[in-house]
Amino acid sequence: MRNFITTSIPYVNDSPHIGHLYEFILADIFARYKKLLEEEVFFQSGTDENGMKMVKSAEEKGKNVKEFVDEKYAEFYSLKDKFNLSFDKFIRTTSEEHKIGVYKFWKLCEKDIYIDKYSGFYCISCEAYYDENEAPNLICPVHKKKLERFEEENYFFKLTKYLDKVKSLIEKDKIKIFPTEKKVEILNILREGKIKDLSISRDIKRSKGWGIPVPNDNKQVIYVWFDALLNYLTGLGFGSKNESLFERFWQKGIVYHFIGKDIVKFHAIYWPAMLLSANIKVPENIIVHYHITIEGEKMSKTLGNVISPDDFLKDYPYEAVRFYLAHQPLFSDWDFSWQSFDAFYQGVLKKDLANLILRIFGILKNIDLDEIDFESTEFDSEFKKYFKKFKENMENFEFNLAYQKYFDLVKNLNQFIDYKRIWESKHLEDIRIIIKGLLEILKAYEPLLPETINSIKNKIEIKNGKFVNKKITFSPFYK
Ligand SMILES: [Zn+2]
Repeated sequence: MRNFITTSIPYVNDSPHIGHLYEFILADIFARYKKLLEEEVFFQSGTDENGMKMVKSAEEKGKNVKEFVDEKYAEFYSLKDKFNLSFDKFIRTTSEEHKIGVYKFWKLCEKDIYIDKYSGFYCISCEAYYDENEAPNLICPVHKKKLERFEEENYFFKLTKYLDKVKSLIEKDKIKIFPTEKKVEILNILREGKIKDLSISRDIKRSKGWGIPVPNDNKQVIYVWFDALLNYLTGLGFGSKNESLFERFWQKGIVYHFIGKDIVKFHAIYWPAMLLSANIKVPENIIVHYHITIEGEKMSKTLGNVISPDDFLKDYPYEAVRFYLAHQPLFSDWDFSWQSFDAFYQGVLKKDLANLILRIFGILKNIDLDEIDFESTEFDSEFKKYFKKFKENMENFEFNLAYQKYFDLVKNLNQFIDYKRIWESKHLEDIRIIIKGLLEILKAYEPLLPETINSIKNKIEIKNGKFVNKKITFSPFYK
């Protein structure tokens, strides 16, 4: 299997917060999980740098737009190293490689593009027009800000031409939306039949010259979504001289888009319609994660409760953050608090999981494993059952359930050691079982704790019946 796994690309109008990190980590865990199954993976993220939002934010900070987005891009990109994210590609929408692909795509859709007058009410923060039904009193339903009235000539994309086809693809799960609740929501929007053609350009004066100019029309720039969504193709070299990655991972691969619940319409309706127009395959999977609240409140600058990824790194190892986030429900909002995070870290990760691994190593330290029959398969089927269940949950993106259930194996091994007093008995068949159990645990937890697990795996080796394990430290667990 060949998998193309993506995150959405965040706007760079502000610094990264825990919500961005959450999505990056979820997608990274899935990418690493697929590699665990020895499947081929291309994992991509990036930054969305065009759009009026960036111009406005730069102005507020008194900065040049280019300088401003470069700075913010660097903050987002730094998360790769800080949290060990295995991106194969990180695409910027202001890059030349992106622009080339956007132009190629525009050309492929040209038959469905026309010019028309547009007047409407616009929210710059959403980068979207609203009508009076959607925004009572002309206040943005998302940002609670007064909408601005715009009137201009724009390019339009014949979105309406593809809506029936998109609807049928979603109904038949050719485009599979997780969770079902979001699939139903999108199908309801499509059945209402109120969606109009999409305006896909903006006056270049209004965007202060920032953005990708419309081909052969230097008075307009391409609307930020008709440019941003294309990152999924341009990151694979679409439009460049070498499109082999695009062919391999998009056209012949299985696509997984991880996105937040506020941008489902763009990914489940606009994006497939655009691809149908360009005669390019549609994505197979759209995974919609929900939002994090902070101690019961919505995260916001005004409330001053925004949590930055760096806040964690002062007191905790980065892997503790990966571990914790993976144990939260993808498909419902959940609440973050430092107490619950710390309790989880001290309890589940250190007291239970790390402790079990250390215990097993302690037992193995003085044992000559020559006598152990590693060919024996007793108990193996038991372990296989755990992994099978784990896989089922992972394939449905219920990471929290996958790991909650797998944790029974940790508990059972701990109890097994206690019950049999293995550190005293040194019974070889029991030791074989705990070694096999250990290897199973290392396997399933690798996507969450890649550095720690790899350092452990490098230290264990069964060589000529001896367990090579002389010096083991668990530094990544501790800070
Ligand atoms: Zn808004």
